[in-house]
Amino acid sequence: MHRRSHVKEPPNKPKLKSLHVSPTNIHGSINLSFNPPRYLHKFFLIAKIGLSQTAKHNQVAQSEKICLVGMSVNGKCPKDFWSTLGAAVTLVEMSDVACAASGKAGGFLALDWCDGGPLEELARVSFNFHRSLAEDFDGARSYGYRAVTTLSLTVTESESSAGSSALPSWVNGAASDAKTIGTTETTAQVHPQLFTRRLVDIAVERHGVSVVIAKLERVEVEEEEGRVGSVVLEGGEVLEADAVVLALGPWSSKLVMLSSLFRVYGLKAHSIVLEPREASLISPHALFVKYYCSKTKRGRPLDPEVYPRPNGEVYVCGMSKEEEVAEDPAEIRGESESIAMLKRVAKSVSRYLGEGEARVKAEQACFLPCTEDGLPVIGEVPGVKGCYVATGHNCWGILNGPATGAVLSELILDGVSTIVDLKRFSPNRFLPPSIP
Ligand SMILES: Cc1cc2nc3c(=O)[nH]c(=O)nc-3n(C[C@H](O)[C@H](O)[C@H](O)COP(=O)(O)OP(=O)(O)OC[C@H]3O[C@@H](n4cnc5c(N)ncnc54)[C@H](O)[C@@H]3O)c2cc1C
Repeated sequence: MHRRSHVKEPPNKPKLKSLHVSPTNIHGSINLSFNPPRYLHKFFLIAKIGLSQTAKHNQVAQSEKICLVGMSVNGKCPKDFWSTLGAAVTLVEMSDVACAASGKAGGFLALDWCDGGPLEELARVSFNFHRSLAEDFDGARSYGYRAVTTLSLTVTESESSAGSSALPSWVNGAASDAKTIGTTETTAQVHPQLFTRRLVDIAVERHGVSVVIAKLERVEVEEEEGRVGSVVLEGGEVLEADAVVLALGPWSSKLVMLSSLFRVYGLKAHSIVLEPREASLISPHALFVKYYCSKTKRGRPLDPEVYPRPNGEVYVCGMSKEEEVAEDPAEIRGESESIAMLKRVAKSVSRYLGEGEARVKAEQACFLPCTEDGLPVIGEVPGVKGCYVATGHNCWGILNGPATGAVLSELILDGVSTIVDLKRFSPNRFLPPSIP
């Protein structure tokens, strides 16, 4: 679909023009150990002595009010932390939980596909965080977390099937060039909507976090101190806040406080969700497809992705283009030609996914939040103490949500992130160079 230039391609690997990029391991062998010691220290400190004790340890005011805008994947994980800190946490969402990309994404996770680039640490910490969250929150049952084998393959429409022993039997279309590009140690998946909802439910049920369905209009800053004071919602309601997290995805561009600093644009991408009759035949293999629409293989191939899910669904996505983001996420519709193309892809990959064999459960579109330099923006908004931003996660927002949430909690608690080095992601990088 599109490629991020900062991710290195493995030598001699075919270029996959997809949402995600083929895995890279610049060191030649895969390091599977989860060993960011500073992160573990923080994690276990919280686990061992309890969150409220940790709060005292970190001298967080028990009366603090925290407002998190955007009920999506980014910024979610710290909610557990915050809510038990004695702080009153409010989630503000203009539409519904996981109504946008965080509900309609593929949910594919990779340990080492960002190795060698600026996302390496964020991605590795997040991948392992997903694994531990799934244990803590019964992710396998409640949001379809599982390890998967990941394959790349070429599929040509209307060609007769040649059959390949390198492919699982349900991939019975005209496929060739099959390669394993991720193992069950290095790739996994979640159902993003169920994942995000689960985190919100836990925050609400276990930690008394409140949810307000309303649109954020602006953030009020106390001029003297340059510190955040409140958020103002559409209709005029004011919520006082000692800390605010803006996790607005592609809608970051609609908030002047952010758009005056940097550009976030939306890349609209389509997806369909199928329910095949023969769901039991479909194995946990994620597919990155190079798709030719004609036998002549003329023209640029498409780069759809196919993700079977443990609940029997098969998710297929692709077909992206830059487009103005609709004001209301509920108004986002997929274009019929793009949806029709994804159905053709599904049928060509597997006859179990064709019309008559699979029910179409959803036809949808949503926006990847993209920045000019392809990197997320995570950190305190320059000039506004206590106001944090987390956006621009592009095609890796489901993967990188957990570490993003954890570093935000660190920034609020300690004023500094020890889990991941945030220098490359700081919003300060967009400030004009200072005059000496
Ligand atoms: C087709 C597709 C497939 C993808 N597949 C994967 C994948 O397999 N793996 C992966 O890691 N990533 C994937 N991604 C990327 C991932 O979905 C995104 O990076 C991530 O969901 C972005 O999360 P977010 O929280 O920043 O934004 P969003 O999910 O867009 O959420 C922003 C939220 O903020 C709310 N909001 C905005 N403005 C306001 C306001 N003023 N007031 C109140 N609320 C507001 C919106 O209503 C929305 O709920 C995919 C994306 C697409 C489009």
